[in-house]
Amino acid sequence: MTDLTYSDLIRDAQTRLGNYLTPCVRLGVTGLSRAGKTVFITALVRNLVSGGRLPFFSADAEHRIVRAYLEPQPDDSVPRFDYEAHLHDLLSVPPSWPDSTRRISELRVTIEYQSTSLLKRFVGLSKLHVDIVDYPGEWLIDLPLLDQDYRTFSTEALALAAAPERAEIAKPFLSFLAGTDPAAIEDEQIAMTGAKLFTDYLRRMRESGAQSTLAPGRFLLPGDLEGSPLLTFFPMPLASGERPPRSSLAAMMMRRFESYKSTVVKPFFNDHFARLDRQIVLVDVLGALNRGAAAVGDLERAMTAILKAFRPGANSWLSLLIGRKIDRILFAATKADHLPASSHDRLEAILKLIVDEAISRAETEGAGVSAIALAALRATRETTAKQGSEILPCLRGTPIQGETIGGVTFDGATEAAIFPGDLPIDAAAALSAARSAKTASLELVRFAPPKLIDTLPDGKPAAFPHIRLDRALDFLVSDYLA
Ligand code: GDP
Repeated sequence: MTDLTYSDLIRDAQTRLGNYLTPCVRLGVTGLSRAGKTVFITALVRNLVSGGRLPFFSADAEHRIVRAYLEPQPDDSVPRFDYEAHLHDLLSVPPSWPDSTRRISELRVTIEYQSTSLLKRFVGLSKLHVDIVDYPGEWLIDLPLLDQDYRTFSTEALALAAAPERAEIAKPFLSFLAGTDPAAIEDEQIAMTGAKLFTDYLRRMRESGAQSTLAPGRFLLPGDLEGSPLLTFFPMPLASGERPPRSSLAAMMMRRFESYKSTVVKPFFNDHFARLDRQIVLVDVLGALNRGAAAVGDLERAMTAILKAFRPGANSWLSLLIGRKIDRILFAATKADHLPASSHDRLEAILKLIVDEAISRAETEGAGVSAIALAALRATRETTAKQGSEILPCLRGTPIQGETIGGVTFDGATEAAIFPGDLPIDAAAALSAARSAKTASLELVRFAPPKLIDTLPDGKPAAFPHIRLDRALDFLVSDYLA
């Protein structure tokens, strides 16, 4: 304190006042594991701070963006999104994809712009803080638990585990449960064994491509809670109407379930979720279409659950808590660069259909919802290949090591031209085919990141290639930049 001069203090007060007066939009970025959150945020920020090519971002198209830059993240209790480390991975030689999101993090980008309002122009340049909040979609799936007691949670979770498409994977857990008496005296070792088997089942379901109803989300992505007693519980069948006897195993599970809700789910909800203004939900639609019927059905259930969290019905408990803060939600089908340009609109149309149907199933109301297909970081270029008399739209990129297509295994260093297939023109027909498909209709390979340039000859940072990132940005923030 003694080192601070009066002018330091005044400068600090001015900064604080400036920040206080600068409007701020809190933008949530979520999606299930591997949906593309980390790549999306890194590419978005890079293109903003480098003044990248964003022709469909209206403020940029109108040449009103003066500059964008990173500022210290304002929430001291939330880790900062590790933008520089992720950028470093993408810019290394050879480039590598950054580590995925495993917990919540935040980053502040400030945009200086010329307002269209005469009054604001008179005062000078306008500023907007965009606080980007990155969090796992797995945590979002936990929100409905706030409305459930242990008995309801157990009934639903056990019915799902016994469903035909899950029973095989759930077998070790279900057999353990069959030999465990809920009325037996509480025992930490039994709790740990059961929680481990339950978690293994959830993880294996996730690895097999399931996206929906895998609560509790922290069992899949524990963040800082790995090994905590808060995660040492599992669902048990309870006789209806009866409270489990004191000090029984079932009573212990019930207590821990309630602690999980009050110590994990509620704080996330109050401290982060309820403070968001806008939300983008990244969805790996292509991956689901490619895995076939079960994956598509599962994706549709997950979308309905996500929509219920964001657009709770008028009289639901969630809407009372949220107070309708989030007013725009964008669903984005990521990794569109795995398909040729002719299929981008088709992918978008399929996602729109899934979202529209999820809206009517969820019977929700509230925020405006839109859908888009994008690639935050374009790893492929368009090309064509001749097959007989036919010209096929292909993609040129470097498939990652170990990917195979048509019997060829790639070494991770060689470029190749791939024909992934095309999506049908009619979205409804495409979706209904995917809902009943037993095998994949596309041939997708994962690509390494493109070779990127860090700085331009004039010393400025280079922009990164993308598909429709600017349209997403336009939907999410451009009205704040009027
Ligand atoms: P997160 O778990 O949601 O943070 O997912 P990531 O952002 O880490 O993305 C998971 C993986 O998807 C990456 O490692 C890439 O392989 C791939 N990916 C994500 N975005 C893109 C993209 O725009 N284009 C391509 N080709 N691949 C992407």
